[in-house]
Amino acid sequence: MGETDSERAGGSPQRLGFETLAIHAGQSPDEASGAVVTPITLSTTFAQSGVGNHKGFEYSRSGNPTRNALETCVAALEGASNGLAFASGLAAEDNILRLLSPGQRILLGNDAYGGTFRLISKIYGPMGYPWSPVDLTDADGLVAGWQPDTKLVWLETPTNPLLTCFDIEAICAVAHERGAIVVVDNTFATPYLQQPISLGADIVVHSATKYLGGHSDVVGGFVAVDDEELAQRLRFTQNAAGAIAAPFDCYMVLRGVKTLAVRMERHCQNARSIVDVLLSHPAVDRVLYPQLPDHPGHAAASKQMRDFGGMVSFTVKGGEQAALRVVAAAELFTLAESLGAVESLIEHPGQMTHASAAGSQLEVPDSLIRLSVGIEAAGDLCADIEQALDRA
Ligand SMILES: *Cc1c(COP(=O)(O)O)cnc(C)c1O
Repeated sequence: MGETDSERAGGSPQRLGFETLAIHAGQSPDEASGAVVTPITLSTTFAQSGVGNHKGFEYSRSGNPTRNALETCVAALEGASNGLAFASGLAAEDNILRLLSPGQRILLGNDAYGGTFRLISKIYGPMGYPWSPVDLTDADGLVAGWQPDTKLVWLETPTNPLLTCFDIEAICAVAHERGAIVVVDNTFATPYLQQPISLGADIVVHSATKYLGGHSDVVGGFVAVDDEELAQRLRFTQNAAGAIAAPFDCYMVLRGVKTLAVRMERHCQNARSIVDVLLSHPAVDRVLYPQLPDHPGHAAASKQMRDFGGMVSFTVKGGEQAALRVVAAAELFTLAESLGAVESLIEHPGQMTHASAAGSQLEVPDSLIRLSVGIEAAGDLCADIEQALDRA
């Protein structure tokens, strides 16, 4: 079904440019009405002309035309043959972890999203799935942390909130040699900046709530996979466990994805302008952005990313109180959790997104501030950060 759609869009996914696929893959004008925009199909069931004789859809949990359009589109953007849309990023992650059987070990990159850490440590761990944190800074760390029962390596790059980047190709080589699969959370980079499947990853996962949706108005998750056997197992679980994305949510993410390339260009450009302000402000201690040559993720990011993303983190010299004054003083940057949308956000990870990590190996410095740089006018964003930093 997916192939037919992208062929109708004018060729195989490989031959069309990213921006073209974002707008056309899986999204040809509706055959019944000519509607140019993919309709939101709310129907839960689909007519059969005879028993088992249908147009590819039977029941909406198993398959839905709007979801199908989104799944085809984002799979094409990731360079994958299969895509699966879920109700949230964590629902997508849960669907992936169900590939494992009790006793099979998960190695979790040492700077993982808090919700991923919670899902693995609080739900899968107690059910009998061993797991251990692993330092993925270089392939040696993975070799050192390897245990014979390892079946899955989970990594995020860039990470949240320190924006560390790991070498996907090198990690996949080590894992594959030892018979494990590699999952890459591509939420921060998006397929526009980084395509893990082309670097050897087996499975790509997204919180579509972030850059894919891009407008802070829909919660969603996505899985892209190129291996047919893995795809079939994931699709079986998607239907059998049922954590599917609703048709309206699929429409919202599909609408967001159309502008992903132009949004990412501007996110990166604006992030660079903000980095310049931070580097020259006396209240700032350390700027964390993968483009900076002294950033620990610089080499990996330069190798595998088109550009360095819209997330910027930094520490202030005045410690936690100064950091809290800065986030309170920002005006255009809204004080809020989440990331990846058109509007700029500012947060204090230590007391907000990463509060539950206090005391664990995921703990972050209390002078740390994280920015999700939006696509507003760069001059306005820079002026806002500058005036907020003046109160540090
Ligand atoms: C937000 C996020 C998730 C979880 O996604 P939800 O849509 O909130 O369930 C997973 N990974 C990363 C990197 C995230 O930022």
